[in-house]
Amino acid sequence: RAPVPSDIAIAGEHAPKPIAQLARELNLAAGEYAAYGAHAAKVSLDVLARLQAGGRGRYVVVTGMSPTPLGEGKSTVTVGLAQALYAHARRPAFACIRQPSQGPTFGIKGGAAGGGYAQVTPMTTMNLHLTGDIHAITAATNLVAAAVDARCFHEATQTDRQLLARLCPPKHGVRRLAAPLVRRLQRLGIGAAAVAAGDAALLADHEAAQLVRLDIDPERIVWRRVLDTNDRFLREITVGQAASERGMQRRTGFDIAVASEIMAVLALTTSLADMRARLGRMVVAFSRAGTPVTCDDIGVTGALAALMKDALSPTLMQTLEGSPVFVHAGPFANIAHGNSSVVADQIALRLVGPQGFVVTEAGFGADIGFEKFVNIKCRASGLAPDAAVIVATVRAIKMHGGGPDVVPGRPLPDAYTQEDLALVQSGFANVRRHIANVRSLGVPAIVAINAFATDTPAELETVRRLAMDAGAADAVVTHLYAQGGAGATDLAAAVARTCEAPSDPPFRFLYDAAEPIKAKISTIARQFYGAASVSYSAEADDKIAQFEKHGWDALPVCMAKTQYSFSADPALKGAPEGFDLHVRDIRASLGAGFVYPLCGAMQTLPGLPTRPCFYDIDVDPESGEICGLF
Ligand code: ADP
Repeated sequence: RAPVPSDIAIAGEHAPKPIAQLARELNLAAGEYAAYGAHAAKVSLDVLARLQAGGRGRYVVVTGMSPTPLGEGKSTVTVGLAQALYAHARRPAFACIRQPSQGPTFGIKGGAAGGGYAQVTPMTTMNLHLTGDIHAITAATNLVAAAVDARCFHEATQTDRQLLARLCPPKHGVRRLAAPLVRRLQRLGIGAAAVAAGDAALLADHEAAQLVRLDIDPERIVWRRVLDTNDRFLREITVGQAASERGMQRRTGFDIAVASEIMAVLALTTSLADMRARLGRMVVAFSRAGTPVTCDDIGVTGALAALMKDALSPTLMQTLEGSPVFVHAGPFANIAHGNSSVVADQIALRLVGPQGFVVTEAGFGADIGFEKFVNIKCRASGLAPDAAVIVATVRAIKMHGGGPDVVPGRPLPDAYTQEDLALVQSGFANVRRHIANVRSLGVPAIVAINAFATDTPAELETVRRLAMDAGAADAVVTHLYAQGGAGATDLAAAVARTCEAPSDPPFRFLYDAAEPIKAKISTIARQFYGAASVSYSAEADDKIAQFEKHGWDALPVCMAKTQYSFSADPALKGAPEGFDLHVRDIRASLGAGFVYPLCGAMQTLPGLPTRPCFYDIDVDPESGEICGLF
């Protein structure tokens, strides 16, 4: 068996078709897409209105078992399955995947365009700036941060009347109320006469004070700055140190751009109007009296919508076998929901039509990514999956059976390169529970066994047989990394067969969003994770009570937990039972529309390792080609 060349070498051998040709194949009208360079295009949401009457395709979510730190191939299977459906089964097929962050691209994990002969191409375009969506999110997030700090500064140094005079400078003798101020007055239900005349001078003193003074508690600013670089030294910083800030210093920090709530908003929104409304609802701070302060209160919503307008359109690219791909959004999979965008899936489902398939990817293992796909993403989109593909590997199964730790950048221990059927048998408990969880929500589970060169036929067959015994609708060994779509024709057939068979029992959510917060957490912990109990820190208890007071308790719950275990302890492998899930804190993303309990330590700005991926990345000075990107 010849070794598979590197991802970038494979990608370099392949000439993608011009994006205009791909757009033509999808019957996109000239005004419905805008090319960004030769191989990517933004596709307008107008397509949805045009195709509203046509049927939609089958909806397949790719999820996984609890992974090793190397990744078990969810992106690779998502891309390879779409290739197999399109180029081999000859069915209309779209893959929808997340846009990779430049943090991991230059840091530890590398890119996220798939791998081997199942890739999105050009992978250099996809893994670097692409069409600038992450830059737009960075700009919008930092605009909010700057607006909050500046507002605190101006409020601290001016009287109410001075603030009002600056916010509403006189024009032709009238102090015109700016649109954000009118909206705030309407929300507060005050100043009707001033609003009607558009004249700020008509506000009574107490109304002016309420309008201009948000009275933000600097200790309770919850909004952080972001950048798309693994810059660990920015995790905690002090701002306001220049003399011009008059001693208004404050400790804060940066997160990676994809951890911004604006990324979660982009991933969950369904239209420009909905995105604007979500951006306005985002809570940035609390006042000294404990009132939530939103982007609407700060007056920044319209500007955020302007910055994010183009990012709303998914980016069209292609696989190595010429099938269409949407690359859109990439929210964090712990503090956010870790799924690609709702609008990309909706447009793709219309573009493929009733004969086609949309293969979309959910981050992390099925305990997190699939659970959030169902309970957060599908709740927002109104869509229901026809099938779930659970990606499993022999190496991850062996690790859950008690195999030694797998460390990125180090050679795999012998247990992973030599046949060990006993280890496979015991580690399969992890996959078995994921299959049961997926089925419990009325979604047929197909296990895709992602074959590695070191797996033996007996090991692969053992996994396949165990998966069928565990109630999988089908279980298939795939060779898409080594062979592309040709290595996943059996998987494509299994997916088509499963989607086209009636689903019994029908699709359901795991919990009712209207239940109390603790009831929702308990359902997820007990039914999906196998926990015996859930405990709360005093802080979490306190915040849950506050959230209920603010009326934020009817939102879905987005668990922030390790992907390496069903529990919050990454070392607890397999299918643990009887443990306590401890919630140490809980936060709210009102724009995204969920609350997120924090279980265990959570890193929102990764660091660079001693030998980061950027060590190998370069540009050929003659050809201008990028090399070393994995
Ligand atoms: P995930 O999306 O689950 O994190 P990826 O699809 O990104 O995983 O794959 C993780 C890494 O493993 C990638 O570098 C990919 O190229 C590689 N990979 C995936 N499948 C295989 C395979 N069957 N053989 C060898 N390498 C693989």
